[in-house]
Amino acid sequence: MQAIQDFLANLVPLLQMFGIFIGAYLVLLWAAAVLWTYRDIRRRSEDVSVQVLAVSLVLLLPFVGIPLHLILRPPQTLAEKYEHELEQEYLRRDIEEKYVCPECQRPIEADFVLCPHCQAALRRRCSSCERVVDLTWSVCPYCGNDGTTAASRQAPTVQSATYPARTRPEEAVR
Ligand SMILES: [Zn+2]
Ligand SMILES: [Zn+2]
Repeated sequence: MQAIQDFLANLVPLLQMFGIFIGAYLVLLWAAAVLWTYRDIRRRSEDVSVQVLAVSLVLLLPFVGIPLHLILRPPQTLAEKYEHELEQEYLRRDIEEKYVCPECQRPIEADFVLCPHCQAALRRRCSSCERVVDLTWSVCPYCGNDGTTAASRQAPTVQSATYPARTRPEEAVR
């Protein structure tokens, strides 16, 4: 009988110690969960009321709050959201930048002179520098040829940019 009493007397403080240890462990876990939630929600929302709601959910409902937070939190972090928006923007711009024939709306390349599908004239070739220019431009922006015979005769002698080339003959005379 005495042995059992001794054993119980030893067991009670042991159980108490164990209880304190478990309690401290749970409190630590709870505090870590609150801290993690605070960091997590700050990465997902700039809205202060959403942040307060998420943190108080985990704070007031220990251990149930975390799964609830995982269900309710915004699915994307702000960085992921920004990245996704950027991707969408690039995709959209990519589609917009594809050239289409104004007549038949079928895809063409930027330097096509006429549409391969409907033969519509898209651009013309400059008669002096052979570069492709817009139909609405009256002067070639690359060589200055305005379509007159004088300009087209003069242009081939001008190899690079127009203005430096004109100064060259004077230098040669000196
Ligand atoms: Zn076409
Ligand atoms: Zn030209």
